[in-house]
Amino acid sequence: MIIVLKKNATPQEIDHICTKVRELGLTPNVSRGVERVVIGVIGDEEKLQVQPLEVFPGVEHVMSILKPYKLASRDYRTENSEFEMNHGVKVGGKKIVVMAGPCSVENYDMLLNVAKAVKKSGASFLRGGAFKPRTSPYSFQGLGEEGLKYLRQAADETGLLVCTEVMDTRQVELVSQYADMLQIGARNMQNFDLLKECGISKKPVLLKRGLSATVKDLLMSAEYLLSKGNFKVMLCERGIRTFETSTRNTLDLNAIPVIKKETHLPVLVDPSHGTGFRDYVAPMAMAGVAAGCDGLMVEVHECPEEAKSDGEQSLRPKQFDELMAKARAVARAVGRDI
Ligand code: PEP
Ligand code: MN
Repeated sequence: MIIVLKKNATPQEIDHICTKVRELGLTPNVSRGVERVVIGVIGDEEKLQVQPLEVFPGVEHVMSILKPYKLASRDYRTENSEFEMNHGVKVGGKKIVVMAGPCSVENYDMLLNVAKAVKKSGASFLRGGAFKPRTSPYSFQGLGEEGLKYLRQAADETGLLVCTEVMDTRQVELVSQYADMLQIGARNMQNFDLLKECGISKKPVLLKRGLSATVKDLLMSAEYLLSKGNFKVMLCERGIRTFETSTRNTLDLNAIPVIKKETHLPVLVDPSHGTGFRDYVAPMAMAGVAAGCDGLMVEVHECPEEAKSDGEQSLRPKQFDELMAKARAVARAVGRDI
């Protein structure tokens, strides 16, 4: 249910409505748009039968959101969501944000070199996994807290933000101490307890689409975060499983305009996991920008042949720099910046 307020609704009227909604055992979420204020009401809508909200001062009309995702839907918020982070980085704005770094954090020197390189090329986030979701239990599982410390240190030294994966509810507090943005990986997109915990943490979240998840599934998972009051959410298209075997995954670029239509949340494209091969990363990064994404995530490694994970899809710093130049040209052509 959303309550659309009159253009001239006063702060007192808004507070009064929110108080009434809470008294009914429901949760109000106030969204302040350019034109007017809207209050999203989450909970058992039956309770509103006893207290019609149309009669309250300041209310223009009340309507149901028919989509299963409520707070994530464009009905709740018509404008694109934007949020600001440290170093003046704006997520969801005209400028496309770029996250780059190795698949896994392996050692400090390598991480710092990559951080310096990607910063110089225009990235604003350093990415890298300290906790790695690996198919095989015998593969490198990440450096854990040591990796988080390296990320924080390398990012602080270069003026970058940190985006890193949190795999388990028990890690949310720890990862939050070091990261600026929590990454929920594809394999955890429907780990509902993790979503709830990250929602409660209020840290910005990058939510990656599951390997076999529909856009609707992705938006329902985002709804878990929003329903806990965390609106600093960026979605990520990172490729889905299809019958195609010439690439690691199939980057579903259709999802970008669909997501932009269905939700106000920003969306990022990950052409590294989306293709699985270095040669395809730059073309699909450009395609993502052309399709209207708000961010890119690219794996970069100093020496990909020696990477502990995802070397085949990792770019060398010089290749990343070339990708940025191409992506920038496409961004300009579609009225964006990088
Ligand atoms: C990653 O970003 O390194 C990663 C593991 O991604 P995904 O969850 O999309 O596979
Ligand atoms: Mn990876």
